[in-house]
Parts: sequence; C-alpha cells; structure tokens
Amino acid sequence: MKRIFNWFTDLKKECSVCAGSGKIPCTCSDNYEITCPNCNGKGVSSKRVTASQKFEVPCDHPQCVKGKVTCGVCNGTGKTPQGDKCPQCHGSGNVNCPVCKGLGRIERVKQESWLEHETCHICNGRGLVECPYCHGTKERTCPDCKGKGTVLNVGKIGVIAILAVLLLAVPVLFVIVAGITLGGVLFMLWKEHQEKQQAREEVLFGDDDA
Ligand SMILES: [Zn+2]
Ligand SMILES: [Zn+2]
Ligand SMILES: [Zn+2]
Ligand SMILES: [Zn+2]
Ligand SMILES: [Zn+2]
Repeated sequence: MKRIFNWFTDLKKECSVCAGSGKIPCTCSDNYEITCPNCNGKGVSSKRVTASQKFEVPCDHPQCVKGKVTCGVCNGTGKTPQGDKCPQCHGSGNVNCPVCKGLGRIERVKQESWLEHETCHICNGRGLVECPYCHGTKERTCPDCKGKGTVLNVGKIGVIAILAVLLLAVPVLFVIVAGITLGGVLFMLWKEHQEKQQAREEVLFGDDDA
C-alpha cells in the first residue's frame, strides 16, 4: 500500500540529461575560457560611424556671376524707360543672386559613414573570456533540471490525471444507471397498478353495461 502511495506522490523522475547529478560537463577550453561573445573571438569590435560634412561649391544659379545676376526690372540697363535710375538695382544693372544671396558660393552637406574598429573592451582584444558557466570547475549546472537532478514526470502525471477523471466518472455513471433502473422499476409498478385498477373497474361496472 505504501508503495502505491509513493508511486502517486512521487511525481519526479531522474533528469536524463545529467543522470540525476544536476551538473553537465562544461564545454569551455582547458584554460576555462570561452570565445568572447562581444567580438565573436575576433578581439576587435566595429561600429558604424556617420558624420555630416559641410563644404562650399560655386553658386549653381545659371546667371550668377560672382554673386550677382542681371536686374530683372531694367534688364541690366540700370535705367527706367523714362531714363531715370532703376530703383531695383540703383543704376548698376545687377542685383544680388537669389540663390547665393550675393556670396557666389553655396553650402552643401555630405553624409559619410564608415566602420570604426576598436579593441574589444570585454576581452581586451584577446578574443577569449573567462568561462561564466563553470567558474573553473569544468562542470556547469544542468539546463534541463536547473541543477536539481530531477524533472517532473509528465507521462506519470498524465496517467494520474486520467485515473482521476475515471474515478470521478464512475460514481456519476453509477448514479445515472441507478436512476434509470429505479425509474424503470417505478414505471413498471405504476403500470401494473393501473392495469389492476382497470381490471377491477371492469369487474365492478361490467354488469351495468350488459
Ligand atoms: Zn539535469
Ligand atoms: Zn535695375
Ligand atoms: Zn549666386
Ligand atoms: Zn571580445
Ligand atoms: Zn566552463
């Protein structure tokens, strides 16, 4: 009986990954080191750097000459049709270029990006780091049982769950069957009673009809 009880209460089984020891051999090197995860063992890490650079180019307005364009009001004559000084260019025939505002040069921005390499700060360029799993013991905690050595016996829990459902179902079925049987018996008794009653009435009142 105790063995059956134990079978039901012991829902754990030995972890097959570590054979119950809770530890698995570590895969680090003989020096208890692993490949640096930051630089993948290369010793250098690289990052993309972007910078925008400003530089000047000559004004691209087609009529711009050293920052000046022909006055549009007097068409470069510097005079009004009446012979007066042009109010727009004050008689010079030229006005400041609208693109470069009289400077003759315009500013352009260039985006540049490149890879910058630097010594990996995690491993200091060695490409290897101290094993974080075993701390020099060559054994790491079993990932399957988290070092406990046992795991939940899922198959057994399933069997127990099915047994529990069956145990619950049996009384329910029993009540249903009992109910049907009892109902049947009562119906038979009632029917028999009715038939007897009918027979008695025929005996009592049969003579009147005749
Ligand atoms: Zn394990
Ligand atoms: Zn003008
Ligand atoms: Zn210009
Ligand atoms: Zn590194
Ligand atoms: Zn290790």
